[in-house]
Amino acid sequence: MIRGNDPILLTPGPLTTSLRTKQAMLNDWGSWDAAFNAITASLRRDLVDIVGGGDEYTCVPLQGSGTFSVEAAIGTVVPRDGKVLVPNNGAYCARIVKICRYLGRAVVDLPVPEDQPATGAIVEAALAADPGITHVAQVHCETGAGVLNELSSIAQVCARRGKGLIVDAMSSFAAIPIDVATVPFDALVAASGKCLEGVPGMGFVIVRKAVLEARAGNAHSLAMDLHDQYVYMEKTTQWRYTPPTHVVAALRTAVDQFKEEGGQPARLARYARNCETLVGGMAELGFRTFLSPAVQAPIIVTFHAPADPAYQFKSFYERTRERGYILYPGKLTQVETFRVGCIGAIDANEMRNVVSAVAQTLHDMGIRQVAPASPRKAA
Ligand SMILES: *Cc1c(COP(=O)(O)O)cnc(C)c1O
Repeated sequence: MIRGNDPILLTPGPLTTSLRTKQAMLNDWGSWDAAFNAITASLRRDLVDIVGGGDEYTCVPLQGSGTFSVEAAIGTVVPRDGKVLVPNNGAYCARIVKICRYLGRAVVDLPVPEDQPATGAIVEAALAADPGITHVAQVHCETGAGVLNELSSIAQVCARRGKGLIVDAMSSFAAIPIDVATVPFDALVAASGKCLEGVPGMGFVIVRKAVLEARAGNAHSLAMDLHDQYVYMEKTTQWRYTPPTHVVAALRTAVDQFKEEGGQPARLARYARNCETLVGGMAELGFRTFLSPAVQAPIIVTFHAPADPAYQFKSFYERTRERGYILYPGKLTQVETFRVGCIGAIDANEMRNVVSAVAQTLHDMGIRQVAPASPRKAA
């Protein structure tokens, strides 16, 4: 893959993009221009197709990072007197709880250990215990530790009990299979700069039309009102307010490359190879993963920090960066970790190279004790 001379971003996201995707940003587009609005329309259709949404679902894009779209989805889809269950096994779940509190939506914060997946059984028990819950907000891949939550059994429970399901599929969409036939949802949120391998700057919500059309005037905020964005876009083909034109053009090219590669199955296969290559190579150096392989999504891997007193994340990060690889700090509260992403326009070759960059960094820092003092000790 041809990328250019930038360091490889193992920080999803932003993430490493292809040269073709970067080149798509070399044009200026007018927001009234029919050619630009045709790009928006084709993207909206393609994004719905990725989950097999057909005519029942529509895609509403929104300016901003992924969190803006999560907030817009909760604010638009959950009625003001609704009550949201959030199975919480990490930082992105905690962010949804915080959004609900900001928006004044009642929320049930259901703790799940950060090394364990949320399951249909856990959600079923919480729904049975509190019949006032109207919606479940579920993170698919919890990017904090990298756990893959059991979305399909959770979706089945929500469907059976008549609860609305809002999915934060930010770090899984287009890589991990999601089909509305087996994972029915009210709304699913993702963004340009994750597994679609576009650049950051826009999110989108794939939403059941019947739900969205019933939510006129529900949103707490004008800029975050997905219903208003939808109605305007359907009427005029344009975005409400200035669109992130370069981001949209880059995403169009990124989605073309996604299709050329073979769509979701091919993307998953590449990321799975990346993940295996990384975990295997790091294990040879003595590193242990925080998660057991059964719950690890091939998106981002959390490693225990070396036990050696010579280890310090900042210097480890800087030295690995000098070798061309950007790592990610850990996001866990109880154990010292760091994370390495497997997504972006990278393949197993980059993963082998980052492992050798890490090996040289360990050597430079004089780190001998790589294994953690007590592996697998989850918070
Ligand atoms: C990246 C991500 C988000 C959005 O984060 P932003 O920084 O706003 O783009 C939300 N949820 C999950 C699970 C993510 O991985």
